[in-house]
Amino acid sequence: MEAAAVAATEPAGLSLAAYGDEVAGCTRCALAKGRTQVVFGAGSPNADLMFVGEAPGFHEDKQGVPFVGAAGQLLNKLLAGIGMTRDEVFIANVLMCRPPGNRDPQQEEIEACEPHLWRKIELIQPKVIATLGNFATKLLSGKPLGITRVHGVEQEVVLGGNRVVLYPIFHPAAALYTPRMLEVLEVDFRRLPELLGQTLAPPVALVPEPESSPEPAAVQLGLF
Ligand code: URA
Repeated sequence: MEAAAVAATEPAGLSLAAYGDEVAGCTRCALAKGRTQVVFGAGSPNADLMFVGEAPGFHEDKQGVPFVGAAGQLLNKLLAGIGMTRDEVFIANVLMCRPPGNRDPQQEEIEACEPHLWRKIELIQPKVIATLGNFATKLLSGKPLGITRVHGVEQEVVLGGNRVVLYPIFHPAAALYTPRMLEVLEVDFRRLPELLGQTLAPPVALVPEPESSPEPAAVQLGLF
């Protein structure tokens, strides 16, 4: 996760919209050839809450907006359930371009696109990032643990140069077809206001830890 390296090559103060314009013609991976357009992300550039899904599907590719299909309708409903709208959050994906036939993202595509995601996080500086499903969760946590194991469990991480609460939840598209998953997603979703109200502890002082301490500086809030 090389957000700092990305930041060093970008002019300071570049706005999110300007960054969107800059990457609208991205050709970092082969998906550029088959897309209608880059789906940069949508919502508030000052959002405290950010969602990261997987990749644009058919409708997103056509409209240039993330989560506008059936999964997006469910996401809208879940947001309404906690008194929020899409305009108050920022919604992005691991990939900005649609994989053909909606196949899974490939490793080289994820690696090509991830600097864009780190830069968005750096510019938006959200307090909470809810990862939707496996691909976003594994990428942003840097761990191979799947969503079934880690959903609903927050952890504090440093992303885009900022400490954020990472909160993995099921992908709405998966929940659409599995009632039990939808119930779990609804329960996990309802914790978002609490996580947004949660004040993060001040950054850990750079004092050497006693040798016996098992805790790393970026505290894990209980993945296991
Ligand atoms: N699924 C995603 O992961 N992202 C979208 O934008 C739409 C569906």
